[in-house]
Parts: sequence; C-alpha cells; structure tokens
Amino acid sequence: MSVDTAAAVAERFRELYGAEPEGVWAAPGRVNLIGEHTDYNDGFVMPFALPHTAVVAVSRRDDGVLRLHSSDVEGGVVELRVDELAPESDRGWTAYPSGVVWALRQAGHAVTGADIHLASTVPAGAGLSSSAALEVVVALALNDLYELGQKGWQLARLCQRAENVYVGAPVGIMDQTASACCQAGHALFLDTRDLSQKQIPFDLAAEGMRLLVVDTQVKHSHSEGEYGKRRAGCEKGAALLGVDALRDIAYDDLDGALERLGDEEEVRRLVRHVVTEDQRVERVVSLLESGETRAIGPVLTEGHASLRDDFRISCPELDLVVDTALAGGALGARMTGGGFGGSAIVLAEAADVETITKAVEAAFAAAGFTAPRVFEAVPAAGARRVS
Ligand code: ADP
Ligand code: MG
Repeated sequence: MSVDTAAAVAERFRELYGAEPEGVWAAPGRVNLIGEHTDYNDGFVMPFALPHTAVVAVSRRDDGVLRLHSSDVEGGVVELRVDELAPESDRGWTAYPSGVVWALRQAGHAVTGADIHLASTVPAGAGLSSSAALEVVVALALNDLYELGQKGWQLARLCQRAENVYVGAPVGIMDQTASACCQAGHALFLDTRDLSQKQIPFDLAAEGMRLLVVDTQVKHSHSEGEYGKRRAGCEKGAALLGVDALRDIAYDDLDGALERLGDEEEVRRLVRHVVTEDQRVERVVSLLESGETRAIGPVLTEGHASLRDDFRISCPELDLVVDTALAGGALGARMTGGGFGGSAIVLAEAADVETITKAVEAAFAAAGFTAPRVFEAVPAAGARRVS
C-alpha cells in the first residue's frame, strides 16, 4: 500500500470527524493457493496475501460511541453505542467492524469507542476475502490503540468469532489468519486445528513464473446455502466415520473410509475431496520446500477437478478459466475460494501470461460471459500499521 493511500484515508478521516486520526492501518485480502473447504474440517490451508488492502484511519473514544464510515459504500457516518451492539442485529457492512468491537469487548477488552474511516482496494464478493481484511484491519487498529497485546493469530480468532456470531456467517479461520499473519514473499501453511503456522517462501518471479488471479465477476446468490450444505455433509461424514473432523482420516485410509460410508454417495464425494485436498496441501508444501515449484501446477489442477467433480462447487465460468488456461500452456489452474463464482488462479511461465490472459478473455467473450478481471498476484505483507 502506498503512502498516498494512507495519507488520503487520513485526510478523509479529518473531513469526516474534524480531527487527526491517531493512526492508519492496512490489512490485505488473500488468495488461497491450495486447501479449499478444509478449514472447517480442521485441515490444512495455504493462502497468501494480496497487495489489495483494507485501510482504516482510527481514533479512540472514551464515551462509548462507535462511528463508522466507508468510502466504498453509499451513505454517511453510522453512529452506534458499543454497549448496545448485539449479534445478528445488523445486516449491513457495519456488522463487520461492529462485530469486531463486540468480540473484543466480549473477550474482556475495554474498548470504549472509536471513530473509524475505511477505504478498501479488495474487491468485495470476489472470493478474495474483503470481509476478513475489513475485520482484521479494525482489530489490529484497536489492538494497537487500546494496547491489548493480542498476537495476529489471536486477533484472527476474535475476527472469526465476530463473523460467525455477530455477522452470522459460519466461516472457518483461514481468511482472518491469512490477513493477520501472512508475510511478503511467502505463502502461509496453516494447520487449522492447532493454528500452527509455517511461512513458506513463494517467490515465483525469481523463477520466471507468475500467478494470475482471474476474477470471473460471478457471484451466485445461492452460494451461502450451498456452503452450509457442504459443511453439514462433511460433519455427517466425520460422525459416520467416528472421528472429530475429516482431518482425522489419513490419506492412506481413504479407501477404507469410503468403503465404510457404504451407499452415502454424496458424503463419500465430500469426504474424498477433503481428504485428498489435505494431502495436496502437504504435497505443495514439500514441493515448494524442495525447490520443485513448477511441479505444484498439476497438484493445483487436480484440486480443481476435485472441487468440480467431488465437492461440486465450480461453475461454467470457473471451469472455462481453468480449461482455457491449461490449453494455453498454464502449469496449473484452479478455482479458489468458496465456489459458485469468485476467482480462479493460474500458475504460468512469465512468457505465457499474455497469451493465456488473451485466451481467457476471448473465451469469455465467445461464451457470452461478463469480461473477467485478470491481475497478477505477488505475495504481499499481512496486516500492519502504516502511519
Ligand atoms: P468476500 O469476503 O469474499 O469479499 P463476503 O461476502 O464475505 O465476500 O464479504 C463482503 C462484504 O464485506 C460486503 O458485502 C460488505 O458488507 C463488506 N465489505 C467489504 N469491503 C468493504 C468496504 N470497502 N466497505 C464496506 N464494506 C465492505
Ligand atoms: Mg468473506
């Protein structure tokens, strides 16, 4: 994030609230390299941070008032009282920052109010986690200003609680942890059971490769219900197999587990995705650690097939990105994020990027789909104070 952006956000804060902010913070959106729909199964994920960030200018208040403003939505300053915040009382964007204040206070932190102005370059609803960026940036700002002493992973947990309980969205821990804990030049290998982390160097440019994000601009309205169904199906699978979570099914025991599920065809497909996906994350980690970066391509593509055929959350636009990119010489490609729209990622040789981008754009035009937004993703920094 540039100094200009921080200065512009601070300036807007002054216009809105008539005083200097105490500071400015930024937190990124993310893409998930591999490990999809594993986080609510206690499994592995591997996101990295995008250069796109949510930026806030914030000052404390001691009178119990919370004032919120976003440059990116219509409407003026919203004023609330911190002691009146209640879960699921707000259906608008302000539920995310209010939820963070609520979660901090619930955890016993004396947050007595704040003035907050937000501006974000993370596209909302594109599967790049604009919501977690917004939560984490607010949590980090309040953590610093109120000297709460919480670490990144602890703030991520509080933000997840805000989204689960206050907003009412049953999301896993990946997005918030990615936004809070990622480091520039690295992907984050996260075990969502014990929250242990490992920063894995991921510098594609140094090896002549690029990672493209293709935002299909599609957001299917039924995606929330479908997410709930997949999640419930995974829980059913774990219960039928007598384990706490699907994470506990070893890859080597997958065939046995599928046999034990008998004619539960749908559950079998969900289980197969989750167990093979955890193994794909482990394969990608070991390939990156041994310097075989190009070899992760086919693993990403396998992940897409599993999400498309077993988990069944792809859509024609995402499949078209993957098929077109692979036909154009990509090393690997997959949908990323929750599914039914959002974005896909493409791993390619630098020299092939232009051809692949043009091919994807042409294929979308030929299919009559809305033009996709294609950009290159370089692993960027996690949440931080910027002024
Ligand atoms: P994703 O996290 O994949 O982008 P979500 O549906 O989880 O999608 O979160 C998007 C929601 O987050 C938006 O509908 C809005 O309520 C909130 N949001 C994201 N960015 C902003 C912003 N810049 N200003 C206000 N609200 C935002
Ligand atoms: Mg989100």
